[in-house]
Amino acid sequence: MADAKEACGLFGVFGAPDAVEKTYLGLFALQHRGQESAGMVSTDGKEMTSHRGMGLVFEVFTPEVIQRLKNPSVIGHVRYSTTGSSNLTNAQPMLITCARGKIAVAHNGNLVNGAELRKKFEEKGSIFQSTMDSEVILHLLARPDPKGEEEAYLRCLREIRGAFSLLFLTPGRMIAARDPQGFRPLCLGELDGGYAVASESSAFEISGIRFLRELEPGEMVTIDSDGLKSRIFAEELNPTSCIFEHIYFARPDSTIFGENVHKVRVRLGKALAKEHPARADLVIPVPDSGNAAALGYSMESGIPLQFGFVRSHYVGRTFIQPVQSDRDVKVRIKLNVIRVVVEGKRVVVVDDSIIRGTTSRSRVRLLREAGAREVHLRISCPPHRFPCYYGIDFPDPDELIANKHSLDEMKEILGVDSIGYLGLKKMLECVSGPPDHYCTACWDGNYTVPVPDGLNKFSLEQ
Ligand code: SF4
Repeated sequence: MADAKEACGLFGVFGAPDAVEKTYLGLFALQHRGQESAGMVSTDGKEMTSHRGMGLVFEVFTPEVIQRLKNPSVIGHVRYSTTGSSNLTNAQPMLITCARGKIAVAHNGNLVNGAELRKKFEEKGSIFQSTMDSEVILHLLARPDPKGEEEAYLRCLREIRGAFSLLFLTPGRMIAARDPQGFRPLCLGELDGGYAVASESSAFEISGIRFLRELEPGEMVTIDSDGLKSRIFAEELNPTSCIFEHIYFARPDSTIFGENVHKVRVRLGKALAKEHPARADLVIPVPDSGNAAALGYSMESGIPLQFGFVRSHYVGRTFIQPVQSDRDVKVRIKLNVIRVVVEGKRVVVVDDSIIRGTTSRSRVRLLREAGAREVHLRISCPPHRFPCYYGIDFPDPDELIANKHSLDEMKEILGVDSIGYLGLKKMLECVSGPPDHYCTACWDGNYTVPVPDGLNKFSLEQ
């Protein structure tokens, strides 16, 4: 139920007669990663055609638009703004023409030196059309490089810092790259005669693309008529993947950072039950991202799992709106309590996170109104106290409830009988990689890629 804004989703296909259709289906499967805008850039090997629009994938890509796009190579993007405001100019992929020809880029993440690089270009007279980091990347790439095209990409990737999973398309080539920390996921797939790249592996399944592997942190993969070539571009590797992808963002049927998301969430729920047991009659998940953790909590505690909330699937995720008052209204529309399940019961509510606390408070109120006798809130990660500079747009730190209030105060504000968060160490024990291979900055303030002084979400949004 986090009211943090999403990252973005990437999908690309190179060398398939139905690449446009596959990209449409892939973006549809990644819709949870961004619902503000969607876009595709396609090529038949000579011309490049682009379409971007505000809205959901099925709204942006009408049958007429799909008809206009070209096979056999396409990159696509779904977006929720992390830098740059929400408008069509900032929709991706971006397509430019430079001395090297046409290049399109789609970006998931956030550059910590994006503003600094942009300033340098502007001081030399460059003009920017959008407020996005992706445009800075294209400016870097457009500079002539005597060593050739591949070197130009490598040099560009070495100059940018922060979180970036990237997809580039030119008439003859698709290039994918993942930052040296591997903050955001990026997967490689194979189909007859071609290759595909997606933010999450589950996006391949809808169109029968075989999942090959994840891109390594600091890896650049070039796909063209000669096949696939891989290079490690990073001079130094320091993987710290975003563990919040496992807790909240990614789909449960995806494999990211080497393991299945659903399995990790069940483990988180089990660990939560051990660390914060409760005397209760029922465990109920906050759907959908709390489902697997609630299952784990129930398995470990022996308290039966019941579905106490029913979710409307026809309302966008709660943070997909700009103003606070809208959010409260949508929270009420989105989830309703099944009164006969919770009436007179002591319930453990399992959720993935609390950001502002507004959605949690509304849920608890609904449970009380439906007659729940006790409400014990359990959260499958630690309290969020710090902002994210790596591609997730949490609100201002002053709006993070755990940054402003003690647990006792939160109990009062949220109206619960008890509250328990999974500890940082326990959370890290639920994933299979070494603990120092995950980013935990939004919980402990340990930013593995230094954040320039004065950088905050407001300076990023320009
Ligand atoms: S700060 Fe939090 S949300 Fe951002 S990359 Fe790190 S773990 Fe993920």
